[in-house]
Amino acid sequence: MIRVGVFGAGGRMGATVCAAVMTASDLELVAAVDPARAGERLTDVLGGSTVAVASGGRAAGDLAIAADAEALGRAGVDVAVDFTVAAAARENLRWCSLHSVHAVAGTTGFTDGDLEHFAEWFGPSSTANAVVAANFSLGAALMMRCAELCAPYFDGVEIIELHHEHKRDAPSGTSLATARRIEAARSAAGRGPLAADPTEQEVLEGARGGATIGGVHVHSVRLPGLVAHQEVLFGSAGETLTMRHDSTDRVSFMPGVLLAVRGVAEHAGLTVGLDSLLRA
Ligand code: NAD
Repeated sequence: MIRVGVFGAGGRMGATVCAAVMTASDLELVAAVDPARAGERLTDVLGGSTVAVASGGRAAGDLAIAADAEALGRAGVDVAVDFTVAAAARENLRWCSLHSVHAVAGTTGFTDGDLEHFAEWFGPSSTANAVVAANFSLGAALMMRCAELCAPYFDGVEIIELHHEHKRDAPSGTSLATARRIEAARSAAGRGPLAADPTEQEVLEGARGGATIGGVHVHSVRLPGLVAHQEVLFGSAGETLTMRHDSTDRVSFMPGVLLAVRGVAEHAGLTVGLDSLLRA
């Protein structure tokens, strides 16, 4: 039985993770942390729907939500899952690395510098490992792999990411991860940089979206009614190829999260993205 703690248990993703862990027979939810909901019963946060599931001999839904990471230490957590905000996740991951707790982080908004720090924290000097993925949906992971495959064969590529109106960071971590992989695949195939943006006059500032260092333009849409969606558009003379992925419910992320929870102990150091877990 893997003992699991969840950072951000009172949030949209964290609550969904709590419910998913509680329904997995090989996982035990032993701690839930969220300063905004500290002192509340997990039962109330989950709406009472899944709390009858017994976990380690007691209803995990009876857990009181704790204010800070020390609750994970007291509960003897093996793996901590983090769906919070980038500033909090940095601290939570540091805590995990220092307390020999494996970490699975789905929080977005990390910079390349953050990933370098995480690689150091979860390096040979730590007994804990970490999996950090901007998108835990298996469909999104496969979309990124397909984008990588197509990248060397087209002259231009742009990404449109579409999310619900409560998303705090833009562009999405998935779009940035996709752009990085497209650029790496082009470079590995000996393709030069993308052509410079031909726009001479941006009549409305931001109309061309943001451009990554490698020149992939990323456009962010925020609308009520959306969950998490992304299109990758490739173009060359006379043809375009569009791939689209839609997560229509947060449960779509749970198979990937549980895969990482079960696999993180076997993947030494820092693993970025779901790919190597899918290939394993
Ligand atoms: P949310 O705002 O609903 O939940 C975040 C929760 O974190 C809040 O309840 C907040 O109180 C809590 N929190 C803040 N600081 C904390 C701390 N120090 N310790 C513990 N909890 C803390 O947000 P959400 O929609 O659940 O998304 C959370 C993150 O997950 C975002 O970065 C989002 O972009 C990302 N996300 C990732 C994936 C993926 O597949 N990787 C999928 C969806 C969302």
